[in-house]
Amino acid sequence: MAFASFKEVLLDGLKNGYAVGQFNMNNLEFTKAIVEAANEEKSPVILGCSEGAIKYMGIDYTVAMARVAAETAKVPVILHLDHGPSFEYVVKCVRAGFSSIMIDASHYALEQNIALTKQVVELCHPLGIEVEGELGRIGGTEDDLTVDELDATLALPAEALRLVEETGIDALAPAIGSAHGVYVGTPKLSFDRLEEIRDLLSNVPMVLHGGSGIPDADIRKAISLGVSKINVNTENQIAFTHTIREIFNKDAKVYDPRKYLGPGKEAIKEVVKEKMRLFGSSGRA
Ligand SMILES: [Zn+2]
Repeated sequence: MAFASFKEVLLDGLKNGYAVGQFNMNNLEFTKAIVEAANEEKSPVILGCSEGAIKYMGIDYTVAMARVAAETAKVPVILHLDHGPSFEYVVKCVRAGFSSIMIDASHYALEQNIALTKQVVELCHPLGIEVEGELGRIGGTEDDLTVDELDATLALPAEALRLVEETGIDALAPAIGSAHGVYVGTPKLSFDRLEEIRDLLSNVPMVLHGGSGIPDADIRKAISLGVSKINVNTENQIAFTHTIREIFNKDAKVYDPRKYLGPGKEAIKEVVKEKMRLFGSSGRA
């Protein structure tokens, strides 16, 4: 199949009470593991790719791998730019063949976030490319913040409404207390805030970033409150690296990359399948 529609896949999740996983590509093994898991689980899937990962793999290799994955898959596959940093970078990814885009202008003041996000939507929508925007601060270093400081990073409902209405984005990533990377202690999601935003924007799919390490019950609750896309990368990276490290620890003489990258890939696949079951996307494709 060609790449699937981001919006269609997320709206089906919103309507039917499940979330679609975005799993990030870091190399060939990640890409294959994610799409094989999706096929076996009969789940739609979003391949996410950040600027850093694109720089590492090369943009043409990235799109080519994802395209082969989509064409050979029996389930909907999407190639999504994760945290697009600028209009120019979005143009580059659209030209290269990405099928949906996240523009992350959340570090700007609201007016500027709206202006840049709108510019991206105006570029993408006529090309049939759908857009995710972000509001508030989804951090990776929020662990030392006090409660007041943490509260200041959360997306504000009135601003969420403005961002969606004034830009026409197809999905919204509101900061609700999750963070990228490995959590120190248990993450505290603000379900009250999520609910307030959902009440204003009940037909807009919401995205939960930093999905690695959030307890299963919190994931289920977030989905029940309108989250229909959940981003996972760190858990796959940990599973991959941990498996390879164990192989090296057991056998110092191993030198054939296939002998350790293969098991690393299988470890990712297991994590992805588990997440698809947890998110409720298994059997939906
Ligand atoms: Zn993110």
